[in-house]
Amino acid sequence: MNPLDEHHAALTEAQAARERAGLLRKMHPPRGLVDLASNDYLGLTTHPHLVERTCAAVTSLGVGSGGSRLLTGQRDAFTELEERLAAFSGAEAALLFGSGYAANIGLLTAVVGWDDLVLSDNRNHASLIDGIRLTGARRVVYPHGEVAAIGAALRQPRPGRAFVVTESVFSMDGDLAPLVDLVDMAERHGALVIVDEAHATGLYGSRGAGRVEELGLSQRVLATMHTGGKALGSAGAWVAGSRVLVDTLAQSARSFVFTTAPMPALAGALNAALDIVAAEPERRAEVHRKARLLRAAFAASGTVTSAQASPILPLAVGENEAAVAIQEALLEEGFDCRAIRPPTVAPGTARLRVTVRSPVPDQELLRFADVAGRLLQAPAAVAR
Ligand code: PMP
Repeated sequence: MNPLDEHHAALTEAQAARERAGLLRKMHPPRGLVDLASNDYLGLTTHPHLVERTCAAVTSLGVGSGGSRLLTGQRDAFTELEERLAAFSGAEAALLFGSGYAANIGLLTAVVGWDDLVLSDNRNHASLIDGIRLTGARRVVYPHGEVAAIGAALRQPRPGRAFVVTESVFSMDGDLAPLVDLVDMAERHGALVIVDEAHATGLYGSRGAGRVEELGLSQRVLATMHTGGKALGSAGAWVAGSRVLVDTLAQSARSFVFTTAPMPALAGALNAALDIVAAEPERRAEVHRKARLLRAAFAASGTVTSAQASPILPLAVGENEAAVAIQEALLEEGFDCRAIRPPTVAPGTARLRVTVRSPVPDQELLRFADVAGRLLQAPAAVAR
């Protein structure tokens, strides 16, 4: 066999192994069903204000940015947006990235040195894990949310600085990091805290900036990372922090420097989303009310999910094939709710991940609780 054929044969076998293990992902577009899967928590992806402001920005600014921000990709619209993002996040400054993945990689690699220590929650998102790996720093992965484990690791002697990295709302478990205790512990031991607010932005705090704002911790963390592709309905992400931190990132975060700036119209979309988040706090209140409603319905029928105050409700299944079978059965009932499997979650913990969104009517949530509860109680019948 020539090397190319050999390589393709190995890839084909790896794909077949994935399929046998129930790990092959298919790309299903949304099918006009009740959307309990997307991160469009506030129903902004198709909101007329976002559509109009994005179209207007395309008309006035064109489609592409043509280069990196440090070369020809710079636009006043980006700088003005960043001023607004900083104020929204309760920070001195903010820097826009093309995605949350790029923002986390750029932030971590720019601020953490190889001789530093990074403490990372064992359920942190892949972009945090990859960013930490790229720093080459010593890593301690602590048990989920265990502040005492952070303390124990920080009490050990270390040559450089220490960073604690966590999500504020965990994307696959829907629970909340114990941020106040975590920041207290980090401060006690001279460590710096980085918080990924991907699933909190637009949903928590009086301005809707996230958990750090809600808990009054903005001045006590090194940086927060916020995404534009989830509750804010479009794309992109930003890191918020001190002026000097943000200036440093603009010089040395490689996923900012060595990449084409986002489409300038992203500024239109994000500005429009911030307008709505500011003007309509009832949207996020609805998300939380509906999440409480669904939790109560699950509790009444004995369906177990996370008890915490977030719009992400995981429904534990265990086996990959069973989770996919329930996903398909839910589809038949008109619900789009996706199976989450390894490596996104630990082996043996496949689950249905429900995201509660403000546009979904109460009666659909109650019907979902009923249908999902029955399917979870009899997974063997579903797996046929
Ligand atoms: N952090 C967390 C916690 C996330 O859930 C995600 C998105 N899955 C990201 C970062 C990456 O954000 P983006 O999709 O904008 O790249």
